[in-house]
Amino acid sequence: MTTQTDVIVIGAGLAGLVVAAELADAGRRVMLLEGQATLGGQATWSLGGVFLVDTPEQRRLGIRDGIDLALDDWFASAEFDDGPNDTWSRRWARAYVEAAGTDLSPWLRSMGVSFFPLVQWAERGGGLADGPGNSAPRFHIVWGTGPGLVDPFLRRVETRQSEGLVELRLAHRVERLVVDGGRVTGCIARNTIDDTEVTATADAVVVASGGIGGNHDLVRRWWPDDMGPVPDDMLQGVPDHVDGSGLLAAHAVGANVINTGRMWNYPEGLAHHTPVWRDHAVRVLAGPGSLWLDAHGRRLPPPLFPGVDTLSALRHLTTAGNPHSWLLLNHRIAAAELRLSGSVHNPDLTGRSVGLLLKRVLPRPSDPVQAFMDKSPDIVVADEPAALVAGMNKVAGDELVDETVLRRQVLAYDRQAATGLGNDAQLAAVATARRYLPDKLMRTANDQRILDPAARPLIAIRLRVFTRKTLGGLQTDLDGRVLREDGEPLDGLYAVGEVAGFGGGGVHGHRSLEGTFLGGCLHSGLRAARSIQTELG
Ligand SMILES: Cc1cc2nc3c(=O)[nH]c(=O)nc-3n(C[C@H](O)[C@H](O)[C@H](O)COP(=O)(O)OP(=O)(O)OC[C@H]3O[C@@H](n4cnc5c(N)ncnc54)[C@H](O)[C@@H]3O)c2cc1C
Repeated sequence: MTTQTDVIVIGAGLAGLVVAAELADAGRRVMLLEGQATLGGQATWSLGGVFLVDTPEQRRLGIRDGIDLALDDWFASAEFDDGPNDTWSRRWARAYVEAAGTDLSPWLRSMGVSFFPLVQWAERGGGLADGPGNSAPRFHIVWGTGPGLVDPFLRRVETRQSEGLVELRLAHRVERLVVDGGRVTGCIARNTIDDTEVTATADAVVVASGGIGGNHDLVRRWWPDDMGPVPDDMLQGVPDHVDGSGLLAAHAVGANVINTGRMWNYPEGLAHHTPVWRDHAVRVLAGPGSLWLDAHGRRLPPPLFPGVDTLSALRHLTTAGNPHSWLLLNHRIAAAELRLSGSVHNPDLTGRSVGLLLKRVLPRPSDPVQAFMDKSPDIVVADEPAALVAGMNKVAGDELVDETVLRRQVLAYDRQAATGLGNDAQLAAVATARRYLPDKLMRTANDQRILDPAARPLIAIRLRVFTRKTLGGLQTDLDGRVLREDGEPLDGLYAVGEVAGFGGGGVHGHRSLEGTFLGGCLHSGLRAARSIQTELG
């Protein structure tokens, strides 16, 4: 069967939905091909954090942010290369930060998106002012998390579908792109329910199929040399559909795939007690008060504290050859500081429930965290350090952690914590966090002593490396046009969202400031839609 339309969009995650909604609103006929039975892709699972700059929420909290400061942070974190693979990435980075500080937020608000008023301070860095990390809080969580961000686009697409402008094909997995006279003119998809083949042709084809985090073969093949060996027991932080199939289909017709070794994987993965996808990992979002220990129970060097510098922490662990690590904390710190990423594990924000939100101040872990404490074999709970260490070594299957070494470090830390000052760099990070009201309210315990008998039991959480975001991808120009290896556009083909490295084939360079993935889908989708609209005349 062959069908013809104005624009084909491959993938109905956030980036694909943005393109489809914008073009259908502009009167274009759009065919949306989605390999799964549902819409929204990863964004539905996401925490809904968007990197925005100089917003009303920031100003209400007294944060003086600005585009120049954000650009400094972005470029210091990205560590772009001088070569051709970062020519467009740099332009995309500048364009994204400028949009994040101007029209992105009013555009979202005009569709009814609102934000949790306490802006979070993710990936804060910990070194010098011109080093990596956010120098100001910029992680704006959508009120309603990921589903709250996807919903307005879904509604727009559904409205245009009812008017006949959008043709939605669920369970249609695109296998190949069609090229005619050097121009991409369509694609061939397989209906995964009845196993029939569909050929679709259009004036423009947009690949919006996401990254590679669910394809372990590709992740292993492209794993960068400077990250040590790929961990044998690596977990997966994305659904299985994040398999790189769209990227490979575009590559097969001449698209330039670049920066493949750049990935945004995390070291803080906890295996899910009720997995939904293969090797399902949940990211542990620890506040600044948990001690982060390597597989041998030694503290990670400063500034590698939780939430500070993901790439450096990951590299530290993977190059050491034994990449699992431990968070060491107690019940009081778990209650105040321990959270999990994703829409499902934050029912208060996802359900827009003020009542549930207020429960965050109760002196006990949140229900989702407690569920993991009850069910996860990787969480050890004990009243005494000796029993805790015995439990840790049992989980690791080896006597890697020495109780004397662990106890010495914790006693030294606790003595300093008790003074209220101290020269331990992590205590300085805690003090900085407590100067920021949302961190004081939502993210730091008021007493950081780990061994304090009043705060027991002690808790140790074994963390494993897991795959999440893909930072490289299809190289695109600022119009979202896919480029060939010779730098010229591959006519008819566009790419948006994660498959395009969120713009240019690598808008992040080597590091993300967080919230830049959803933000990058919105921005790249919007830009491509506008340029397709102009191109089609
Ligand atoms: C648990 C979790 C939490 C996250 N939290 C945040 C956060 O707070 N902030 C942030 O910025 N980012 C976050 N992210 C990352 C962010 O959600 C993703 O990077 C982003 O949603 C990617 O969107 P996308 O549209 O490019 O791709 P995807 O969401 O992967 O969508 C691609 C779609 O294409 C379909 N598809 C793939 N191949 C084909 C094919 N061959 N044919 C047809 N269809 C195909 C897929 O089924 C999918 O629906 C999170 C991710 C996860 C998993």
